[in-house]
Amino acid sequence: MEFLFVFVFGIIFGSFANVLIYRIPNNLNLYLPFSFCPQCKKALLWRDKIPLISYLFLNKKCRYCQNKIPLWYFLSECLGGFFAVFSFYHYGIGGIICFFLCLLFYTLCVIDWYFLEIPDILSFLTLGFGICYGFYQDFNTFYSLTNPFLNAFCLMGIASFLRLFIGGIYNKEVMGEGDIIIFGILGGSLGIFYAFVAIFIAAITTLCIMLITKTYKMPFVPFLFVGFLSLLIIKTL
Ligand SMILES: [Zn+2]
Repeated sequence: MEFLFVFVFGIIFGSFANVLIYRIPNNLNLYLPFSFCPQCKKALLWRDKIPLISYLFLNKKCRYCQNKIPLWYFLSECLGGFFAVFSFYHYGIGGIICFFLCLLFYTLCVIDWYFLEIPDILSFLTLGFGICYGFYQDFNTFYSLTNPFLNAFCLMGIASFLRLFIGGIYNKEVMGEGDIIIFGILGGSLGIFYAFVAIFIAAITTLCIMLITKTYKMPFVPFLFVGFLSLLIIKTL
């Protein structure tokens, strides 16, 4: 029964992630105006705002203009529920840190996918949760408490070096500035070894997709997120 409450908690915040994904890159206020359809701008009824249920009940379309509601609206809510149950199952009440880390990281991943940019306010907030998650894990294992900070800075240093060094060789930008903070999130939350494994998974996946689709400008954060999530799940097995 408690897992049902946790799942509902997760989908509500998953729904809030949708608000962040749409409003932050479009420079809109997070609270006002109240929820509206991005296509026809009509305000939504309360019954159109129920996470998961409204999407299915409206048959994936806006009530007024009949335009399709993007799938990621539904996906964010499902993932919110999954992150909450996963975090609570593994860490109990302390899992709240893991939950917000996953949800904010996912938010960054969708924003990067659609807008090819990463809002600083969200990436620094996620970095904060990443370091807190590292501390939480260290606290459980009585490991050195300074490590998550050092790990985050170490990974950010390596990312900055790669950006300047490889960028200098090829004379073009190989990584966005925002990706440096994402490396910090990986280092702070997973530790240096697992962060490198996550980056390796992300790099190999990106390379394969680039070769298959012959697209050479791709957002990197979604792949780093896949690497992060795989390692997070493997670490808790
Ligand atoms: Zn509409």
